[in-house]
Amino acid sequence: MFQQNIATLAQQLRNKEISSVELTQHFLQRISQLDEQLNSFITVSESQALEQAKAADAILSQGQGNALTGIPIAHKDLFCTQGTLTTCGSKMLNNFIPPYESTVTQRLAQAGTVMLGKTNMDEFAMGSSNENSFYGAVKNPWNLETVPGGSSGGSAAAVAAGLATAATGTDTGGSIRQPASFCGITGLKPTYGRVSRFGMIAYASSLDQAGPMAKSAEDCAHMLQAMAGFDQNDSTCSETATEDYVSSLNAPLSGLKIGLPKEYFGDGLDANVAKIIMDAVKEFEKLGATVKEISLPNLQLSIPAYYVIAPSEASSNLSRFDGVRFGHRCENPKDLMDMYTRSRAEGFGTEVQKRIMVGTYALSEGYYDAYYLKAQRIRRLIKQDFVSALEEVDVIMGPVAPTTAFGLGSKTSDPVAMYLEDIYTLSVNLAGIPAMSVPAGFSNNMPVGLQIMGNYFSEAKLLNVAHQYQQVTDWHTQTPNMAKGA
Ligand code: GLN
Repeated sequence: MFQQNIATLAQQLRNKEISSVELTQHFLQRISQLDEQLNSFITVSESQALEQAKAADAILSQGQGNALTGIPIAHKDLFCTQGTLTTCGSKMLNNFIPPYESTVTQRLAQAGTVMLGKTNMDEFAMGSSNENSFYGAVKNPWNLETVPGGSSGGSAAAVAAGLATAATGTDTGGSIRQPASFCGITGLKPTYGRVSRFGMIAYASSLDQAGPMAKSAEDCAHMLQAMAGFDQNDSTCSETATEDYVSSLNAPLSGLKIGLPKEYFGDGLDANVAKIIMDAVKEFEKLGATVKEISLPNLQLSIPAYYVIAPSEASSNLSRFDGVRFGHRCENPKDLMDMYTRSRAEGFGTEVQKRIMVGTYALSEGYYDAYYLKAQRIRRLIKQDFVSALEEVDVIMGPVAPTTAFGLGSKTSDPVAMYLEDIYTLSVNLAGIPAMSVPAGFSNNMPVGLQIMGNYFSEAKLLNVAHQYQQVTDWHTQTPNMAKGA
């Protein structure tokens, strides 16, 4: 059951071949058997999941419900879930039980999904390897010695190992696409503003965006259908109408114009990864697409621009964690200042503290123009690069990451090497466009993701392109060995 897609499970649920309670028990059982090796969940909400499953069965028994009714999924532990611990991967929030529900989790619950639990992540979504979690590193199910990618590594590992049918993730600079690539699943970062950020613990508010992580583009379409759309609780949420992401999956690709940015295939890209991406592109040509080289000349500037803008916004967003209103408070404070400083020093991990310092510096008087303002100007140039390229082509393709999943601990002492991992993903967030990661092959038995980027609000197109590729390839149906036995 764990290998089946949402549409198949929905059919079985409707036909009463299985019940949602049975399906939920099946996944809870797999979590208890396999997650000790992976550490992909921070919280498993067993009794609540079974209650939700019962409620879903009641709806199904009346012949009602939709494609998601009774489907067990997991949520990144960054979405506030009313009454359920929400840590954001941090000691700071290890006692935080939100009094309200995020729009994403609420909409998915209303659509009938069952929440199995909350998945592990890099602390406050800062990281590319999931090694920055207070709750310990997550392991990649394809090789337990390697990282699953980050920051939505728990969601990616859980879906790849069949511990949940699908999961939510968030992507500020690549955190849906890179772990999806490393774990061999399909992930979509929607256009900025397509999905509400209400109830998502903020990292960098002008970049953060929630999206689905699942086994296939079709499953992502079902998830996005429930997640997307205007929300009056988020003033940056777009009023642009949503599309029918499921019914547009089958449009033929003949005439599709694909752009390959030459900057995505230069130094630093692993040769095997490059070959897999080019093979995928050939597959699209067989489906009737045409390919042309394009240029995104400011790609190299995306790392310095992102690593000024994201920490700047984070330093402001994280100032609310002061030991008074939320989360961790130190023992026996001498005075107010001591309470603030010790609570923050004890509650935040090193990467988070580093970014708060970088961000505070970049925003301080005398440095603001030199760093923050300049980074914002670069951001405009990067956006312009995409806008011009997307006048000539329908979608842009390239790698998600320069390599496959790297060894646990292999980059933790070299922050620049870690930040370079994000080279192909950051610019998408700076521009605000949507992009996907789609399984496209294996290099030394580790999954490789193809990145598909598109114009603003072209999610239906991206899902269609990915789905057509998945009709003629089977990379997305592979299962890691550790997940097979159970
Ligand atoms: N790896 C990037 C960072 O550390 C992106 C993280 C994300 O998308 N949340 O900031």
